[in-house]
Formats: sequence, structure tokens, C-alpha cells
Amino acid sequence: MDFCECGALLVPDKQPDGSVVMKCNACGKKIGANSQTNSKAFEIKQTIRHSELEKTVIIEDENAVETMPTATASCEKCGHHEAVYWQLQTRSADEATTTFYRCKKCKFTWRDYG
Ligand SMILES: [Zn+2]
Ligand SMILES: [Zn+2]
Repeated sequence: MDFCECGALLVPDKQPDGSVVMKCNACGKKIGANSQTNSKAFEIKQTIRHSELEKTVIIEDENAVETMPTATASCEKCGHHEAVYWQLQTRSADEATTTFYRCKKCKFTWRDYG
């Protein structure tokens, strides 16, 4: 729905030449139809998509980390040598399984493509 700058609802109004404009019954203003209507509806739908891999790096459930196996891996941030790890098979069957590590000390997370 469109509204006039005066705040009233614009209604379609057929002109003598057959075209339709939006007309305000409150102030009489006429606005050409299809001028800016509907053009923005599609632009907004472009949401930012993170890849499956990027999503996995963010661990939302901290309790899940407690149940993960521990591996010996050197953290490049703090130098700690213990990290929990988990693996992810990407959707494409061609791609190798990716292993993620998360430092048990500073929680820095990285991936290892093996
Ligand atoms: Zn108006
Ligand atoms: Zn660390």
C-alpha cells in the first residue's frame, strides 16, 4: 500500500486516457503509478550467506565443547598444545573432510585441511 505525503491512503484512479495513477482522496494529489513501487522488495532479500565452514567455527553451545575429543595441536595464538577437535564433511562429496581445532586455553579456533 502507498500513502500520500499528507498521510492518507493512496487509491488507484483510472484516468481518461486509460492509465492508472495513485490518487489521494484527502488532498487530491496524484502520483504516477509504478514509479517506485515494489522495486525495493527484492533488494532486501539479499542476505549475507556464510558458508557451511564458516558457520561451524562459531560454537554456540559451549557445553558441546566439553564432550569433544582432545587432540595434541599447537595453538598459534597462545602456544597451548591441547585443543578439542571436530570434523565436518562438506556437502560436496569431492571435498575432503575438514578438521577444526579449538584451543582449550584461549578458545582460538582454526581449521586444518589435512
Ligand atoms: Zn494527500
Ligand atoms: Zn590458544
